[in-house]
Amino acid sequence: MTQAREQFVELENRYKSHRTTTTATATGECLFCETPVEPSRRWCNAQCRDDWQLVNQED
Ligand SMILES: [Zn+2]
Repeated sequence: MTQAREQFVELENRYKSHRTTTTATATGECLFCETPVEPSRRWCNAQCRDDWQLVNQED
């Protein structure tokens, strides 16, 4: 049981570090306000990027 728990924690930590080091993926919409943007862009403007980063850094 203890080993299973350790494996779970390890997976969880790996997921967290993966998430924090992964840059946001462009979806064709602003990741913050969902305004349609060019496919290669992730935010419609710098303000949305800053706000998104602010929100997504907290964990
Ligand atoms: Zn936006």
